[in-house]
Amino acid sequence: MCFTSRLAALYGSRVSTHVVRLADFNAAWEQSREAYLAAVDRVGRSGWLILGSEVSTFEADLARFWGLEHAVGVASGLDALEIAFRALGARPGDRFLTTPLSAFATTLAILRVGGVPVFADVDASGLLDLDAAERVVAATGPVRFVVPVHLFGHACSLSRLQAFCLRHDAQLVEDCAQAIGARSEGHAVGTAGRVCATSFYPTKNLGAFGDGGALLTNSVTLRDEARALRDYGQTDKYVHTRLGMNSRLDELQAALLRSVQLPLLSAQTDRRRAIAARYLAGLSHPRLTIPPVPAGSDSVWHLFPVLVAGDRERFRAHLKSQGVATGLHYPLLIPHQQAMQEAGHALAPAGAFPNAERFASDEVSLPLHPFMSEAECEHVVASCNSWEA
Ligand SMILES: *Cc1c(COP(=O)(O)O)cnc(C)c1O
Repeated sequence: MCFTSRLAALYGSRVSTHVVRLADFNAAWEQSREAYLAAVDRVGRSGWLILGSEVSTFEADLARFWGLEHAVGVASGLDALEIAFRALGARPGDRFLTTPLSAFATTLAILRVGGVPVFADVDASGLLDLDAAERVVAATGPVRFVVPVHLFGHACSLSRLQAFCLRHDAQLVEDCAQAIGARSEGHAVGTAGRVCATSFYPTKNLGAFGDGGALLTNSVTLRDEARALRDYGQTDKYVHTRLGMNSRLDELQAALLRSVQLPLLSAQTDRRRAIAARYLAGLSHPRLTIPPVPAGSDSVWHLFPVLVAGDRERFRAHLKSQGVATGLHYPLLIPHQQAMQEAGHALAPAGAFPNAERFASDEVSLPLHPFMSEAECEHVVASCNSWEA
């Protein structure tokens, strides 16, 4: 009997036909349907749809969860980054040190404030390499901002980031979109600079039923600046002191986030960690390498990356034939994206970011979400190990 039929015999027929997905929004809905509907009903009955008590209560709950004073809910992670930069006084022409390996949004936010992205290679974990960053700054000149990404749910070293920013007199804005709850040497990501940004895109560890994001800060000044910027630059009703944007988190999204998603986050993070531990212990294929968890990182495993030596697409086809979905993070580096040219930046030559390029060509993300069953988890491990490379 093949492995999948043995599992099917043990656990029912689900495994043999089921696609192990990268995320499972149906399961999320089924698990908490009553609570979601109750939250929607509460907003409907309140008759208040924009910037009301759901948003302010969620902001307070999120800030408490994070261990920071203030959260400001906005429309997306992209906007959270842009508003953070603007609140810190970013001006056109400012140079922003950042990573070539991330969602394009990280750099898009820099470009939207007229900033100049300055890329440094990543390390073996796939996160911004501060030694490479030192070399880039030495070769190309000072930067005003540093925008690291806690990629895959791993925490970059906050102490090293702070020391780097102090040495270079730069403002730190951590992109925490993939790493809510992650810790570096015991400190929550997002707490090393004056303001950080995160996303509630549905696939994120704290996902909304649509788009959303937030900035977090201990500064009342930055909080008030962000509140004005998300709401047309309004500081009082009909009083506009800046050129702001419309980037408000909806009452509905805030209600779902505060009543259902945020209370589940710690348990779901534990589940992610348990699945990752199973993968770390069980994956043994000689052609698969798991990028190391950064030193000091208590990761929240937004994604589970492996590097494939050999034909990545053949590995993905094998997993697909076993009913296992896979993702790529990210196959085309930001400095190689055509959109960079529209912003006046020449495309980086091949070979400029050897570590990031290795991720772009070899990385495959395995399914990892809190609704995966034990059987699905074992099935992913067995499917990877049974690849005939
Ligand atoms: C998802 C993501 C973003 C963008 O968030 P949106 O809410 O989709 O705008 C930014 N940075 C990283 C690292 C992300 O994963």
